[in-house]
Amino acid sequence: MWKVREANVAKNDAGDGLGRRQFLGSAGALALGGLTGAKLLAQSQPAPVDLVLTNGKIHTMDSANRVVSQALIQNGRFTAVSNNVSVPRGNIRRIDLKGKTVIPGLIDAHNHIVLVGNRPGWHTPLEHVFTLPDAIAALKARSAEVPVGEFITTCGPVSAMQFMERRLPTLTELDAVNRPVYIQAAQGGTRTNTQGKAWLEAKGVTVGADGAIAGPALTAALLALRKEFLTPETRKRSAMDALKYYARLGITTHRDGGAFHSEALSGGLANENTYTMHNPFLALHRDGTMPARLRIEFLHQDSPTANPPLPTLGPRLRNAFPFFGDEWIKTGGIGEFTGGGVEGLRAIAKAGWRAEDHALSLAMVTNLIKDRETVNAEIPLSGLRWIISHVPEFPVDLANRMNAMGMGVLVGWGPLRTGTNVGPPYRMLMGHPIKKGYHSDGGDITIINPWVNFATIASGKNLAGQQILSDQTLTRQEVLWLATAANKWFIEEDDLGSIEIGNHGDLAVLDRDCFTVSDDDLKSTRSLLTVVGGRIVHEQLG
Ligand SMILES: [Zn+2]
Repeated sequence: MWKVREANVAKNDAGDGLGRRQFLGSAGALALGGLTGAKLLAQSQPAPVDLVLTNGKIHTMDSANRVVSQALIQNGRFTAVSNNVSVPRGNIRRIDLKGKTVIPGLIDAHNHIVLVGNRPGWHTPLEHVFTLPDAIAALKARSAEVPVGEFITTCGPVSAMQFMERRLPTLTELDAVNRPVYIQAAQGGTRTNTQGKAWLEAKGVTVGADGAIAGPALTAALLALRKEFLTPETRKRSAMDALKYYARLGITTHRDGGAFHSEALSGGLANENTYTMHNPFLALHRDGTMPARLRIEFLHQDSPTANPPLPTLGPRLRNAFPFFGDEWIKTGGIGEFTGGGVEGLRAIAKAGWRAEDHALSLAMVTNLIKDRETVNAEIPLSGLRWIISHVPEFPVDLANRMNAMGMGVLVGWGPLRTGTNVGPPYRMLMGHPIKKGYHSDGGDITIINPWVNFATIASGKNLAGQQILSDQTLTRQEVLWLATAANKWFIEEDDLGSIEIGNHGDLAVLDRDCFTVSDDDLKSTRSLLTVVGGRIVHEQLG
């Protein structure tokens, strides 16, 4: 299979010049690297490099769950994976892993990385810090590269619950950062500092004395920031920063679930122009500097009663190509909303496309399945790999009905949730034949950091330490499998998600053994070396 796809490569794979470009800039690196005091070694990298890794605990996630000590990557793909690799002559970089744990590059099979890559200002992810002093330190480190007068922003994948203090920083605390700061959390409110307050108030935005922004002022604030600070160049910078940040956490493939369409700039955190928001990523792709892979879903929200019917979905299905692109950027199907009701589903099935909707409750998933059964009776869905994501409440009979149609579920979406036994029922799903994979859904309503999500699935605890999953937790091996090999089915690519001969050379060398550390340590896991198709996109081996 992979040899067929080999013909479908673009200039990223031509080996022409990526190495001469500044592949790893400093933006965002400070935020992560600065905290550990570690030095980022690689600022540019010949690409792709041939690599041999030795002396590691390499969790292959192959069908036998083999753990081996050595792996060889040549021309971007694994060419040997065993305990006894014979290293060919030639220009090969040798890395002694000294016993470190290696996993396949993580696949987040549904998040909102494209939204994150289009944030106004100098978006500074804070998903790896768990105390307010560490958050302030990360923002201060970031300020060194932000021009005077420009905003440091953290919009979306951040929450009050992630901090030990269970709140966002106050105006006074944020004043330690000598730039305007704007933090709009998925959960826990919105805050600015004195410099930010002055700027926003000059734009007519109401800001509380404590720096809090709420109600209609929130939309006005984000809209003002977007109007002032978004240009094609800043979007491209943000897209690169976002992809690099998550590469440092081991994510090598993102499947993006889209945004709510706004033709003009909007004040909604989940809103973007869905026809242009991919441009910054396409620009990185043209430059040959993508530090991770992107898979694109098209979100549609046509009203079922629209006249003429399916005003946006219809043209999409007629004029676009599913699964078109190359190994770095590729289109997928329709999601995470299909729009257009049963008629929309019928059109997608007739066109032979993939479809995904999300379910927030038992009633919602029940209705989604009923609609799909209606369509399935006319046009068999098996083979189209339709997906329902989140599925918080999901009894086994619904799993049976979805599985009978050849559908799969994406699960994750947990560390900020509250309540008891809030699902999804991971343990039930692991014992069920239905296809399942991992997604964070992070970017606007929750966080993307995979390790925080994994810690919740493994421990059953949200970020505040409350038990939310009852007896539905998974082993580390199961969690890692969901985010690697299991996600092959959801991106419809067999040559990612496991360390096997012939697959793309995507992996992460971790700073700790994610299979044995405590649940609390698990959430702080980082990658020391992230490789995507043989290219070193992050290196902090020390
Ligand atoms: Zn989503």
